Amino acid sequence: MKISIVVPCFNEDKVIKELIERLKETLTICLDIKLITKYEIIFIDDGSSDNTLLLLRSFSRDDERIKVVSFSRNFGQQIAITAGIDAADGDAMVIMDADLQDPPELIPEMIKEWNKGYKIIHMKRKQRIGESGLKKFTAKIFYRLLNKLTTVEIPLDSGDFKLLDKEIILYLRKLTEHFRFMRGLEVLAGFSQLTLEYDRPARFAGKPKYSFLKSFKLAVDGITSFSSKPLKMVTVLGIIGIISSFILMAYAMMSKIMLPNRILPGWTSLLIVVVFFSSIQLFSLGLIGEYIGRIYEEVKGRPLYVIKDKINL
Ligand code: UDP
Ligand code: MG
Repeated sequence: MKISIVVPCFNEDKVIKELIERLKETLTICLDIKLITKYEIIFIDDGSSDNTLLLLRSFSRDDERIKVVSFSRNFGQQIAITAGIDAADGDAMVIMDADLQDPPELIPEMIKEWNKGYKIIHMKRKQRIGESGLKKFTAKIFYRLLNKLTTVEIPLDSGDFKLLDKEIILYLRKLTEHFRFMRGLEVLAGFSQLTLEYDRPARFAGKPKYSFLKSFKLAVDGITSFSSKPLKMVTVLGIIGIISSFILMAYAMMSKIMLPNRILPGWTSLLIVVVFFSSIQLFSLGLIGEYIGRIYEEVKGRPLYVIKDKINL
């Protein structure tokens, strides 16, 4: 049985050497105890501008099990994972971050569970060490909101670190959508899944590649590609708006009848109505636009990524 390790890398030259050493150490143990018979490590260089590609090139020269797919520019981690899924040749694959926040030493345990017949092994973060309070807080809110809004069972607090069986890989290869929230798509296939817990260590070296804005965009992708509930919320808001406008109209008419001299048809109520409805309209338009934008992107059917170079593949 062959395992493929897929690692998206964006400017990770400070961690590559340590990562390869630790990965090889663990995978050699796996070979020794006959947990696996073969392995490959596929690095996806997501348009790095530092020495990542240079380093990967030299490592892949010495060992043909180390493979590299290099993008012509930065396409983002989710697309890099997709390229890894397309290139992987194993009976199962493990997706992990390059920065050693996903410890390679957990791989044997994941393979053991996979041998029991689970098709996806999620790795749930019990604790996150060395990450800002704001990141932890927003991540926590996001996973819970996603869970409330979607019908697919995306496990709470698990990132992209997971093992996928060949069946899931084949399923994922069929998906052509552009806004890819891999953690959701993997679950869509509907096979048996297991969640293991681990304490997530701090980044080994280098800077985080996810700015707040980038994380926010991923969160929006996650919610809009797995739920149309936000669209339905607009309808609910519309209904609330209509009900309140009736109350306002009744109030205005009653005042005119009961106190014709004291109450002029006021500009206040007019203002409330105008502001209220224009805000609802704007909000609805924005939200609908969000989905239409996505339809537009999908309809164009552009290739997901452009490969500059392939090594040992
Ligand atoms: N990454 C990538 N492309 C990007 C951003 C990130 O391939 O545009 C990779 C990065 O090299 C790392 C993983 O995705 O291997 C997770 O990134 P990071 O550690 O910055 O995210 P965090 O741990 O903060 O969620
Ligand atoms: Mg990280």
